[in-house]
Amino acid sequence: MAQKRKRSAKKPVAKRPQRKKTVGPKVQPIEEILFRVEGKMSTFGGPKDTGMSADEGLALFSQADLQDPKYSYLFLPTAPPGTTGLGRRLNPDKYYFACRWNYADTPREFLKRALARVENPSNGRAADARPVDWGPNIATGRVADLSPGLAAALGLQTDNVVRITISALQAIPVKTAKGAKKVAAISRPPSPPAKPVIKQFIRSPNCSPRKPETKIDKIVVHCTEGSLASTLTEFQRTDSRRVSAHYVIDRNGDIYQMVSDADCANHCMGANAGSIGIEHVGSETDSLAAPQAAASAALIRWLLQEHQIPRTNIFGHDFTPGYSRPGGTSCPDKLFGPVHSQATIAAWVTANV
Ligand SMILES: [Zn+2]
Repeated sequence: MAQKRKRSAKKPVAKRPQRKKTVGPKVQPIEEILFRVEGKMSTFGGPKDTGMSADEGLALFSQADLQDPKYSYLFLPTAPPGTTGLGRRLNPDKYYFACRWNYADTPREFLKRALARVENPSNGRAADARPVDWGPNIATGRVADLSPGLAAALGLQTDNVVRITISALQAIPVKTAKGAKKVAAISRPPSPPAKPVIKQFIRSPNCSPRKPETKIDKIVVHCTEGSLASTLTEFQRTDSRRVSAHYVIDRNGDIYQMVSDADCANHCMGANAGSIGIEHVGSETDSLAAPQAAASAALIRWLLQEHQIPRTNIFGHDFTPGYSRPGGTSCPDKLFGPVHSQATIAAWVTANV
C-alpha cells in the first residue's frame, strides 16, 4: 500500500505497544547439514560456454528430464544451433551449479531434487540453486561452478569464494532412493514447507490474469499504514484506487488471501506482472508483531519454493525493481527495521525466512 510518499493525515492508527523482536538468527543443528563446501568458483553452462563440448551432458540430468516441468525450467526451450548436449542447453539465467559430489553421501536422485543455499560470504548475498552436474575438475583448484546468472546475482566473479550448503530443512524429500541410507542416517526426513493456513479468502476484484509467459519471480512486502478492516475494505472497492495484494497478514498472524497467485494484484505500480504482494497490518511507526513476523516468514518460505523464486528477490515496496511511481513511497515503513532500505529487508529475510 502507501502509493504516496507523503503521509496522509487520515489513518487514525491505534497506538500499539512496540514489541521488541524476539526472533533471532536461526541456529541450524549441525546434523541438518548434508553438504557444505567453501572455496573458489567459476561459471559454466549455456550456449556461450565453449568450454563444454557440443554434445556434453550433465551428471544429474538426461534428455528425458526435459519433459518434466520440475526440471525443464533449467533448460532453454530448444537446443542451441550445432549442439546436442544438455550442458550447452542450460539456461544461463537460471540458478544452478556443479560440485564434486560423493554419491555415497549425496546420491544422484537426492541431488536432483535438492535445493542448495549458495552464498557470497564477502557481501552476504545468497540465493537458492539446483545441483545439475559434477565438477569442476580438482586440478582447477575450485570447489564449484555456478550458472552465469547465479554468479551475477551474488556479485561473484571467477575465483571469488563461494559457500554452498544443502541442509535437510531445504532439501526436497525423495521417495527412498537406493543408496540414500547414509543421508537418512544423518538427518531427519526433510519436508517441504506447507502453505500456511489461510484464515479467509476474500476475493478482490482489483486483479488481472498473469500473462502465460510471465514467471512469478519476486515477492514485494508492504505496510498497510492502516487497520486490517480498512485494508480489506479498500481492496474490495472498485470506485477508488483499485488496489489489492495477494495476501494481508494481521498483527496476530492471521493470513488473508485476496488475489490468487496466478493473477496479478495491483500493489506495486510497474512491477505487478511477476510479483506476489504481501501486506502487513501496521502503522508507519510499527515494527512487525512477533506472530505476524512468524506468519510472514512461513508464507514467504512456501512462496519461494512453490514458485521457485530466488531468495534475493524479496523486496520492500519502495525498492522493487520496476517500481515506477514518481516520488516513491515510504512503504514498508519501519516494519522490518528502523532504516528505510532494501538492506533492512534483506537482513530480516536472512534472519527469519
Ligand atoms: Zn506498499
